[in-house]
Amino acid sequence: MAQETKNSILIIGGGLLGLSLAYEFSRNNFKVLVLSKNRNESAGFVAAGMLATHAEGLEDELLKFGQESQNLIPKWIKNIEQDSNIKCGLKKCGIVVPFKNKEDLEEFPTYEYGKYLNHKDLQTEINGMNSIWKHGLLFEQDGQIDNRRQLMRALERACSLHGVEFQEGSEVENLTFEKNKITGATVVCATGEIKKINCEKAIICSGAWSKKIFNKIPVFPVKGQMLSIQGPTNFLKRVIFGPKTYLVPRDDGLIIVGATVEKDSKFNQGNTPNGIKQLQEGIRSLLPEAINWPQMEHWWGFRPCTPDLKPIIGKSKIKNLFIATGHYRNGVLFSAITSDLLLKIIQNKNLKKIEKSFLEKFSIDRFEI
Ligand SMILES: Cc1cc2nc3c(=O)[nH]c(=O)nc-3n(C[C@H](O)[C@H](O)[C@H](O)COP(=O)(O)OP(=O)(O)OC[C@H]3O[C@@H](n4cnc5c(N)ncnc54)[C@H](O)[C@@H]3O)c2cc1C
Repeated sequence: MAQETKNSILIIGGGLLGLSLAYEFSRNNFKVLVLSKNRNESAGFVAAGMLATHAEGLEDELLKFGQESQNLIPKWIKNIEQDSNIKCGLKKCGIVVPFKNKEDLEEFPTYEYGKYLNHKDLQTEINGMNSIWKHGLLFEQDGQIDNRRQLMRALERACSLHGVEFQEGSEVENLTFEKNKITGATVVCATGEIKKINCEKAIICSGAWSKKIFNKIPVFPVKGQMLSIQGPTNFLKRVIFGPKTYLVPRDDGLIIVGATVEKDSKFNQGNTPNGIKQLQEGIRSLLPEAINWPQMEHWWGFRPCTPDLKPIIGKSKIKNLFIATGHYRNGVLFSAITSDLLLKIIQNKNLKKIEKSFLEKFSIDRFEI
């Protein structure tokens, strides 16, 4: 009897997008190999996990993209949780955006999607809110996932159970091509050994490092520093999304405090005194009493940013090479829709009008290089 050969796919980068893609392809019967330089540096382990389509004030196609992804997320998470047996901490907890004056509130890009809160409502909605904030918008449809402690682990486990092969500590140095097709990659392993890997098809999802692999991808790192504090359980129920700082409460009272936005950081490692100070000032300005709660951890990471702040998703000019990167501040939010779209393109599925429009808007062709 002839043996069935599975379609195979090479995924370059084992961060949030790499894992989401590996999961999607493996559960749809692809043979998946993930090459991962260093899982621990992935922004997937750094992010606050907010699903903040409206609270971020996304506009135009990014707003639609976020809304569509938010529609897919409950089913996506349910599948991951069932396959991995790990809960991912998905919560439609609502996000409050505070304002000092009404003009700013009315100019907020997603104003029409929020519920108006006056000063008193704001105090009722957020226990301990600093009274300098006079107005607020509550986006009940927004929420969070516990990416750092749960989602990433759940994805890794679900991928392994679906047969995904991981080569951790494997850095792709360059790609090999023949007649406008990618044939494979040269990889430096953790041991220093250099290997050639062949592939039928590949997806570059190497986050902020993607340009180093394929220099036509105009992605650069934007550093973010974060810390966490331990609050009383159930004190803060909604996310507060201030102008420079946000507070994201997990179920056990842990509050994720983020984040600096450092555009010229390059890949400079580490937390800095200024970064930590900015976060502490942010806590004080939003929830003064929380400044005395114990600090638990601090960490940093690199958002993959593009010149127009939009992701790059879909085909490249190389026939069998695909791209999924540049998700900047919203990779957790956009993972579900990105992996769904990539699977559809590679399987040559019919796309809905809105999906085609996303792929046009987020194509790498928009950058003339
Ligand atoms: C401080 C901060 C807060 C954030 N908060 C949120 C949030 O609240 N909500 C939200 O939706 N998003 C948030 N994000 C954004 C989100 O984390 C990113 O958009 C997302 O993680 C990007 O996923 P990725 O897979 O493209 O990159 P990553 O998760 O960074 O993964 C890239 C992986 O590729 C690997 N790699 C790189 N080069 C190579 C190579 N040559 N060979 C092999 N592997 C390679 C790296 O080692 C890394 O593990 C935040 C990001 C930061 C930094």
